[in-house]
Amino acid sequence: MKRIAVFPGSFDPFTLGHFDIVERAIPIFDEIIIAIGVNSEKKGHQNIEERINFIQRVFKNKPTVSVKSYRNLTVDFCIENKATFILRGLRNGTDFEYEQKIAMMNQEIGNGIETIFIISSPAYVHLNSSVVREVAKYGKDISHFLPKPVE
Ligand code: ADP
Repeated sequence: MKRIAVFPGSFDPFTLGHFDIVERAIPIFDEIIIAIGVNSEKKGHQNIEERINFIQRVFKNKPTVSVKSYRNLTVDFCIENKATFILRGLRNGTDFEYEQKIAMMNQEIGNGIETIFIISSPAYVHLNSSVVREVAKYGKDISHFLPKPVE
């Protein structure tokens, strides 16, 4: 059986912190689906098409990584895509507190789906999409927080 992982998130925008987690997960899984959760109430910094397009360009040379968006429950999206793992990054204790509850719930409602955590690299522990969005709002260059697309 193929080991397929879904990496769910808002990715608004997709930062070097997210990139680091995916790069380090590539050797572990046969396939990784980066899944952008669409929340109709939240208007993002980048629209969904921009996010998909940007992430696809970043992983252009990585054949096992794909990008999709979804509107349903994460575990249902996993089942639809035959994924038995959820991939998440962990920066600190606050992330842990939040992630533990969700991972337990997903295991219960998602046919035993396993959440696999990768600890953030020290260089990216401080990186957080909402802070990057805030900085961008005031016109500052945020490109050094983001991965380089493969052209
Ligand atoms: P969500 O809105 O679901 O938290 P995010 O886009 O903020 O989605 O994050 C998606 C995943 O990436 C989460 O598991 C989050 O912990 C992880 N992540 C975000 N930033 C970093 C970072 N700098 N280092 C490691 N993991 C990160």
